[in-house]
Order: sequence, then C-alpha cells, then structure tokens
Amino acid sequence: MNTHWVSKLADKIVKERGLKVTIASGITTSGPPHLGTVCEFLYPWALVRELKRRNVEPYFIFVGDIMDAFDSIPLTLKKYSKILREHLGKPLCGVPDPYECHESYGDHFLDETKKIMEMFNVELNEIVGSNTLYRKGLYDSYLKLFIKKLSEVKRILEETSLRKLPEKWKDIVLPICGECGKIATTRVVELDIEKERIYYVCDKDVGYTKGCGHKGYVTIGSHNWKLAWRLDWPSRQDFLNVDVEGAGVDHHTRGGSWDTAVAIHRKIFGKEPPIGFKYGFILIHGRKMSKSKGLGALDYVLSLVPPEILKYFLFKGDLEENKNFKDDAASLLRLYEEFKHIGLIIEQKEKVKDIALAKKVYAYLLAVGKTKAELHISFADVLVLYQLYKNWDIIEKKLGRPEEVKKLSKYVENWIKLSIVPREYLIEFKPTPVTKYVEAVRDFAEKLSSEMRDIDIHNLVYEVAKKHSIQPKEFFKTLYVALLGQPYGPRLGRLIVALGVEKVKNTLLSMART
Ligand SMILES: [Zn+2]
Ligand SMILES: [Zn+2]
Repeated sequence: MNTHWVSKLADKIVKERGLKVTIASGITTSGPPHLGTVCEFLYPWALVRELKRRNVEPYFIFVGDIMDAFDSIPLTLKKYSKILREHLGKPLCGVPDPYECHESYGDHFLDETKKIMEMFNVELNEIVGSNTLYRKGLYDSYLKLFIKKLSEVKRILEETSLRKLPEKWKDIVLPICGECGKIATTRVVELDIEKERIYYVCDKDVGYTKGCGHKGYVTIGSHNWKLAWRLDWPSRQDFLNVDVEGAGVDHHTRGGSWDTAVAIHRKIFGKEPPIGFKYGFILIHGRKMSKSKGLGALDYVLSLVPPEILKYFLFKGDLEENKNFKDDAASLLRLYEEFKHIGLIIEQKEKVKDIALAKKVYAYLLAVGKTKAELHISFADVLVLYQLYKNWDIIEKKLGRPEEVKKLSKYVENWIKLSIVPREYLIEFKPTPVTKYVEAVRDFAEKLSSEMRDIDIHNLVYEVAKKHSIQPKEFFKTLYVALLGQPYGPRLGRLIVALGVEKVKNTLLSMART
C-alpha cells in the first residue's frame, strides 16, 4: 500500500469527486518567487500527476491574486523604491511594472511565477489574474448575495475568525479609491443594493501607507473593488467549480480563512465545500521565509540545486510537516547523495520494503517522472575533481557520464562563485615529503591497487593504521599532508580515486623515503 500523502489524497478525491475534477491553487504575486511560492503549485501538481495516472481528468487552474494590495517593497527591488513607494496600498495590478515589460507589477511577477512553473515542468490548464475574474463580472452576483445577507455573513465571519467586528462594520468588499487608487485604505460606509453602489471613505492608516481622505462610491459594474479575502476565496471556488484546493497551515488554523470558506459554502451557498488539504511552512535553516529580507529567494536556491532535487526534497516529507531547507554545503551534499541513491534504487529495480524508503521512492518518481536515475555520479566527486583539474573535459572522461557532468558543472561553478564550497574541498594536488609514520605510508602505498573503490581505500587506511599502532585520525592527517600539503581534505577514498590510484601510489612512495 502506498502511504504517501499524494496517493492517499488521490484516493479520497476519486472516491468523493469521481473522474473529472478541478484543482485550484493561487498566490499573491507580490514580488520575486521564493521557496514558499513553489509549494503552491508543486503540491497540487503532484496530485494532478497522480490523478492522471489513475485516468482521472484533472483541470488545474492557478489564480494570481493581483487585486491584493501592494504592501511592501521586496529587498531585491530596493533600487526601485523611489518609483514604487507612492504606489504602496494600491492593488498589485494597479502598480507599474518597475521593469517596464508588463501591464503591471502584479502581472510581471505572475508571469515570473509562470516561467518558474515551466522550469519545474509543471503543466496547468489555466493561469489567470484575479483582476480578470473581477473584470469579467464573475464575482458580481456573489457581492450582491453577501450584501443581501450582510448580517448572516458578518456573523459567520465573527464565528470563524474568532474576532468581534465593530457594530457599523460593512467591509465585505474593498473599493479602490477613485482619487488615489489605493485599495488598502478604504472603508465601506454604505452598501446600496438598489443603485448597486458601494460608498466608502479613504481614511485608513495601515502602517505602510495612509488614505487620502476622499469620500465617494464605486458601482458594482465598474469592478473597481474586490471582495474581502475570506469571501473572495469561497466565491471563486464556487464559480470555478473547484473540487480540491490546498493551502498553508496558516489558513487552516482555528480562526483561519479555511473555516470561513467552509461556512460560507454551507450556510450561504447551501453547498458542500471543496476537499481541502493543508501543508506546512517552508523554512530556511529553521527560519521563516521573508520577502522583505530576501530569505529563501528561489533564484538563489535554484543556483545551488537543480529543480528536480528541490522537488524531491519537497515531496519526500509528510504534507503537513514544516520543511526545513538547509542551504549549507554539508546538508546540500547529503541531499544530492540521497537523490542519487534513490534514483539508483529505482533504476536497479530493487525491492523496497521499508515504508520510509518507499515514500522517498514515490517522491522521486513524482519529482522526476521516470523510472531512470537522473544521476549516477556523485556531486561531491565532481566537486573534488573540479578542484583538482579545473577542466571539464578531463572530468567528463574520468567519470564517463558527460551529460551528467555537464548538468552538475553549472552548480559546481555556482558553489564556487557563492563561496559555499566546504573547507575540506578547497584543495590542490601538492605532494609533500612525509616526515612521520614513513613506514606506514609506504606500507599503505604498496597495498594500493588500481581496482580499489573509495570504500576499500578508506578501510585500508584503518587496517594499516592498526597494524602500525597509529591513531587512524593521525594517519589520515599524514596522508592528506603527503598529497595536499594540508592536514584535511575530502573523504580520502574519494580523493585518491579522483587523483588516480596509481598516481597516488607512486606519489606516496616517492614522498615517503626511508
Ligand atoms: Zn515586466
Ligand atoms: Zn484615496
């Protein structure tokens, strides 16, 4: 039995919704994509993939919430602060594109998100900005319904958000100020269903921006408004006929917007809500991502690992657990190694009985989409070889997998540029005369033979150290000094194979003269 969450959720979807389903997802594209952004499309996409395998016809739609207010300038856009600052508080689709290539700021980053999806090989049926959905009038009847049922809607919001609302509260809708263009600063004072007008005052101070004081109205037909998020979400799910939609745990906590959506579906629309699922946060070294601090920027993460490894990382854990991405070299090397290992298990058709391992295998298949290993060579080997030879042709010849070397070369070069190559990998071949344990070094060298693998060489170090009554740690240091002129380096077996066993044998014999 497959116990991976994607498989279990697919079971539930087929059982409850049949063979034609709509899966929705969305995000506020308020700046450059970060690690959290990819979850919003990768998790639903994993489901789409599994459902297709089961002959279900999924329709996958992604909505960019670009009617949301522009509430902060991301760190990476600081140089555009001058142009952008005056637009804080406006809907993202009303803020100019600082790069001047799209209709708006919101459109620019929605398009970037789309490009990232392509990079991850995520196919979807539709990607649309929420402003388009509003302009088409798809929300109109919902707004009218909420106005008619205002007191009931207000009660639901209070109950599900665990917040008491002021007596005169009418903010089920956020008008865009006709004077200053901001959406974050307006407050509804009257809802006139006869004239289909929303009267507002633009007087809120939301911390990052202030209203202009203008009083006026917008008509429903003008579409210069958006519904409050807690009402927008269920309305959209209703007119898009959404069967399944996931969201982060923050939406799913007690008092979160998922509870509101469910209650609106049941009590206002008289329908059953879509199937929901919730996922944990993505953390960077235990810290939450931050757009304003630039933490977890996707282009940075993708300069360290290829997209399929990141996908594998995100799929291998449980859905609701927080995923802690560690971008230090040791953690990344482990991730590369694990990815390679799981691919080889699949390629060699090894029987997998262990449940935890089976989940990893399934995650790999979701991420890579084929039963072949993506990597047969070790990233650490490529890293060591590059330090020693600085020549990709030689490395391709040594490892014999030119395609894979080409693929990894980009990441090795990035690691060097970003200075994250671990100290023990910063090496050069620098034969140095042996002054200590000369006999033992000669003994070790004589026992080396070209057919030995790295693990055999590693074991030989212990064997020879024991025979000569030397602490293994001391003997390792001696060998590193003899080869690199420094007492540390990458795993010795790996290093000696990379240098060539015969070459090392001869070097050690000439460096350790009695
Ligand atoms: Zn643009
Ligand atoms: Zn205003």
